[in-house]
Amino acid sequence: VNEFELIARFFRRPAKSDSVVLGVGDDAALLRPTPGRLLVVSVDMLVAGRHFFADVDPEALGHKTLAVNLSDIAAMGATPRWALLAGALPVADARWLAAFARGFFALADAHGVDLVGGDTTAGPLNLCVTILGEAPQGQAITRAGARAGDDIYVSGTLGEAALAVAAISGRIMLDRHAMDACRQRLDWPAPRVALGVRLRGIATAMLDVSDGLTGDLGHILEYSSAGATIDLPLVPRSPFVDELLAGSHRALALQCLLAGGDDYELCFAAPPELASRVATIAAETGVPLRRIGAIQASGGLVVRDERGFPMADVPRAFDHFAGERS
Ligand code: ADP
Ligand code: MG
Repeated sequence: VNEFELIARFFRRPAKSDSVVLGVGDDAALLRPTPGRLLVVSVDMLVAGRHFFADVDPEALGHKTLAVNLSDIAAMGATPRWALLAGALPVADARWLAAFARGFFALADAHGVDLVGGDTTAGPLNLCVTILGEAPQGQAITRAGARAGDDIYVSGTLGEAALAVAAISGRIMLDRHAMDACRQRLDWPAPRVALGVRLRGIATAMLDVSDGLTGDLGHILEYSSAGATIDLPLVPRSPFVDELLAGSHRALALQCLLAGGDDYELCFAAPPELASRVATIAAETGVPLRRIGAIQASGGLVVRDERGFPMADVPRAFDHFAGERS
């Protein structure tokens, strides 16, 4: 297939929303934003060999390419609406493209997102989605705004995606059940879009955990000019991560749990007087929300271990220009 056939066959579909005045096919798309709302815009790039294994299931990759962007919109408390997809592909393999598009559009449809444009070129596998969402003026949730005394919460569980990477790269052996569960988290992240919207007016600061809890929470502290204390035993994790923490793989488990990345859970601060509303939101969305600590006026990030002592060597988040992951 040539470039234009490829776009027409795999990426051009009738728009679902009438907000799309003109979609894929022209020099640019024409969109009709909702009057009175702010546009919320973000872009994320996924590079083969760095963000995913080049032989990953293309349907999962289509899902994840959009999911990581939806997660950023969720983290703003915004509603996703439109996406653009730019990709470099080594070859135009119809089966690969069909599977990729299936994964991408299934998630797009689930969130009412229209693909309205993109760019397609030959090159080393690399995928880049620009996402556009909307939020009522003054209601988007930023990283700034956490106040001393606020509770800190995390959704879902952390560490499994990083544990999958550790297992795939041979740093640890997992049993079949644990491996399947971790692989699912790595390949099919579920962006917390409904949760993010529900936290408007409740969360004082929020982000999605994509590079690891300690580093990402550090961004909230920096932008909010605050400190925090969190308790390691409260950081939500799966039973098998818990088991590793208690055994001879503690260092690796700590690294995955606190600094692993690829979690796509939400981390947010909220005043203690709103705790019952947070609990209601957890019940109504079906997303577990765990309080892991509290914001302080200053003092950086302190992580207390199982005995209540501040940890000396807190694993830091992954940094593409300093780290050593795949
Ligand atoms: P131009 O040469 O003007 O940049 P292109 O030939 O790159 O246009 O793209 C043609 C049309 O197809 C445009 O509307 C563009 O937004 C869309 N498009 C290109 N690649 C993709 C893609 N991977 N997914 C969705 N739309 C795409
Ligand atoms: Mg172009």
